[in-house]
Amino acid sequence: MVSEADCLFCRIVAEEIPAEIVHETGRTLAFRDIDPKAPTHVLVIPKDHYPDAAALAAADHGLADEVIKAAHAVAEQEGIAGSGYRLVFNTGAQAGQTVFHVHGHVLGGRGLSWPPG
Ligand code: AMP
Repeated sequence: MVSEADCLFCRIVAEEIPAEIVHETGRTLAFRDIDPKAPTHVLVIPKDHYPDAAALAAADHGLADEVIKAAHAVAEQEGIAGSGYRLVFNTGAQAGQTVFHVHGHVLGGRGLSWPPG
């Protein structure tokens, strides 16, 4: 397992910090966002530490695929796959990334406007 001691999401994977887990596979974890921006707001991560989506894709294409499949499984499980949902990977500080362990936001359960702010 690739992890960083001071990474918030690595600590969730290690069960050092509690989270409401909604989906898990061998290499991915999904848990509810602590500050939800939509009726459904779940974060999907690889258990291994990669700082952002670019690093994940560069290092392990198979794992990026697993994260996206897990995100869709979460949407199905949450009942938002049919109505539509948004999968967002904020990548870099200017894009709004605040936790530097790659995570996809699965957002849905209401109409979502475009473009984002
Ligand atoms: P981003 O701004 O794209 O890096 O997203 C980070 C997300 O992590 C935000 O939506 C936060 O609300 C969420 N977050 C921060 N701490 C926790 C935590 N302990 N458990 C669950 N979600 C968290």
